[in-house]
Amino acid sequence: MVSMKKRVFSGVQPSGNLHIGNYLGALKNWVQIQSDYESIWGIVDLHAVTVHQDPAELQAKIIETAALFLAVGLDPKQSSIVAQSSVPEHAELAWMLTCVTPVGWLERMTQYKAKAQAQETVGDGLLQYPVLMAADILLYQAAIVPVGDDQAQHLELTRDIAQRFNSLYGETFVMPATRLPAVGARVMGLDDPTTKMSKSATGTGHAIGLLDPPDQIRKRIMRATTDSLPAVDFNALGGGVENLLSIFQAFSGWTNEKVREHFSGMRYGDLKKQVAEMVVTSLEPLQARYREIQAEPGYVDRVLNEGAQHVSPIAQSTIRMVKERMGLYTPR
Ligand code: ATP
Ligand code: MG
Repeated sequence: MVSMKKRVFSGVQPSGNLHIGNYLGALKNWVQIQSDYESIWGIVDLHAVTVHQDPAELQAKIIETAALFLAVGLDPKQSSIVAQSSVPEHAELAWMLTCVTPVGWLERMTQYKAKAQAQETVGDGLLQYPVLMAADILLYQAAIVPVGDDQAQHLELTRDIAQRFNSLYGETFVMPATRLPAVGARVMGLDDPTTKMSKSATGTGHAIGLLDPPDQIRKRIMRATTDSLPAVDFNALGGGVENLLSIFQAFSGWTNEKVREHFSGMRYGDLKKQVAEMVVTSLEPLQARYREIQAEPGYVDRVLNEGAQHVSPIAQSTIRMVKERMGLYTPR
């Protein structure tokens, strides 16, 4: 059936334990909009290998990530859930886009600079990452891409690449719009409120995993870095406290006014207790569903299979058009 809805695409790398930043910045919003668009959600494993991954662990993480997509409420009847590497056109289009992308554009990317710094030798894939991401989006002619704030720069680059291709070869790609959540677009590390929470960061007090046990969640939040003030002062919010407040707000759905009124003057210890309880109770149902999903043999693989089958014709039709536009060989 040909859908008349606009298409939406986004993805998560199976590069570690998914955390509340991934949930609040991305997954939660995907669930909210999945029925308004023709939705495609990727477990972007080709992105994960831009830094070294243990093969056995990566395989397990792909399934875990897909199971989490389902556990947060993505519905395979409304959404296609796809492992990126099972649709080879992602990599194919990435090559074609690489050939229209100036290296200077890629060297300017802040994620590249940050991730390259942490590597002994920098693989070419790390530099190419945003081109592959552009390919993921443009392959499906996605009109909307819901992501966290850290991906806004890559989305701008995606539009630049699309524009350049369109101007060189004629109108080919839909221009994708960035969609950021109002609250929770950039959850910061609990150990260091100046760096964003990341799967690939190593500090033990850094992140809250979606599958972390309640006691660990409480402990991490109670130990979160704040500042030298004793209590919440909205006229002098430190980064750590601001981060805790926005985590609470994103999970609770409270308005700014309500948050202000409730937490003004509250001692940090009490603030942390309330944030911890909010996170624990919000994650409980998700964790229960995750266990159910993982207990059903073959279910996740079936969902991934169906997802790939559903999106493959879209991917193939984009590739056919791109080949024609570029003058590459297309069988007659
Ligand atoms: P990695 O360290 O491997 O890059 P990551 O935590 O950055 O992992 P990604 O898989 O790169 O996660 O990103 C998946 C989605 O989650 C993207 O939409 C991204 O913008 C969003 N996201 C990642 N980190 C945060 C965060 N700290 N706050 C809000 N959104 C985030
Ligand atoms: Mg990332």
